[in-house]
Amino acid sequence: MGFSSFKLHPKLAASIKALGYQVPTPIQVQAIPPVLAGRDVMGLAQTGTGKTAAFVLPILERLLPGPRGRVRSLIIAPTRELAEQIHVSIGELGRNTHLKSCTVYGGVGVNPQISKLRSGVDIVVACPGRLLDHLAQKTIDLESLEILVIDEADRMFDMGFLPDIRRIIRQLPVKRQTLMFSATMAPSIRKLTDEVLSDPVTVKIGHTNPADTVSHALFPVEQHLKTRMLMELLRQTDTESILIFTRTKYRAKRIGQELQKAGYRAASLQGNLSQNKRQEALDGFRDGSYQILVATDIAARGIDVSNISHVINYDMPDTTDAYTHRIGRTGRAAKTGDAFTFVCQEDEPQVRAIERVLGARIERRVVKNFDYTTPAPKRDVEFARPPRPQRRDRGEVKPERAGTGKEENRKTGKGSPASGRTGFSTTGPKPAGGG
Ligand code: AMP
Repeated sequence: MGFSSFKLHPKLAASIKALGYQVPTPIQVQAIPPVLAGRDVMGLAQTGTGKTAAFVLPILERLLPGPRGRVRSLIIAPTRELAEQIHVSIGELGRNTHLKSCTVYGGVGVNPQISKLRSGVDIVVACPGRLLDHLAQKTIDLESLEILVIDEADRMFDMGFLPDIRRIIRQLPVKRQTLMFSATMAPSIRKLTDEVLSDPVTVKIGHTNPADTVSHALFPVEQHLKTRMLMELLRQTDTESILIFTRTKYRAKRIGQELQKAGYRAASLQGNLSQNKRQEALDGFRDGSYQILVATDIAARGIDVSNISHVINYDMPDTTDAYTHRIGRTGRAAKTGDAFTFVCQEDEPQVRAIERVLGARIERRVVKNFDYTTPAPKRDVEFARPPRPQRRDRGEVKPERAGTGKEENRKTGKGSPASGRTGFSTTGPKPAGGG
């Protein structure tokens, strides 16, 4: 997904280009459309995720056509440093717009701020204490306010600013759009959202910073060793609730069965299940009677289980969006989670794309005491399925059959002939008829 899908003003598109942003970050993907649509938004995201542009871009878009020189947007930040950073971002992203912003915080002279405010600004980035002083002295006029942003609400709370925030909000027009960002959803923050946001859209991006709630790890492995490695990894890892993603329906089913055989409380969720079976798997996973759920991306849509401790990508997702969706199922809010991804050599370009979005290299790990040298069996078990024709699910790779050469990935449009198929062992013998 590119920035063009937001249909931003060409002036903003030009600044995005000049800054070298190629694709929106996950918080931008999720937050920009509802903010543009005028909705109140609660964004669970921390610094480093691109959250500043996620609110600055739609604010600029909204302010571009209207009257100039009145404060139409107020951004409240807990520290001067953050206020300055936001102000700089507004300058960069809005450099072609002639919209003006200024900062308001304590510890520096008040007079330059007063004259700047008098000269006419469109956006004010403020820390709470000094803003209250300006309001008391009537040196700031917020009558025309349309959009309020409360950034890093959890830090505001830690610093004892919530009473100040409430005092400020009481002096603002009631009819406005409000956006709030916080790294966590502590009870105090939830209470504040109930008070200040109206019918908000909540976007959760706790996982984009690898150092925070989710730890990401890649496990390089050859295709034919994946199942064995999965078993070993599960044996060695302290897990609660695990969601495993596979690329095909057939694999989801087969791995579910193998896990059951190995004594795990596991179920699989894939497009071929009846609605009853599907519901039974979902309910069982939610209430803990299944510890492991194996699913394809499509089948897993809408799963919202808050206590998933591990997401395991048995197969690499096709897109970076799919990756963030998958791992977004763990590490929700203040909880921590692990995202393990099995990668074959062919997956490297996709790994690099994901690392670009995360803004960090993902740690490579090996499973201790696991024999990586076992050669592929004659007929690769990963593809040895009964040759029964199946209906295709859009966006999923058709379950593969050794040697047909006909499987295709309709989502990416990539054909994968048997001779060069994704994830196939490069050292083991070729499957029957494959090449
Ligand atoms: P923030 O989380 O807002 O503090 O942003 C973190 C860093 O990411 C800043 O240096 C931004 O300039 C940068 N950034 C924001 N959006 C993007 C994007 N779509 N692509 C690349 N870098 C970005």
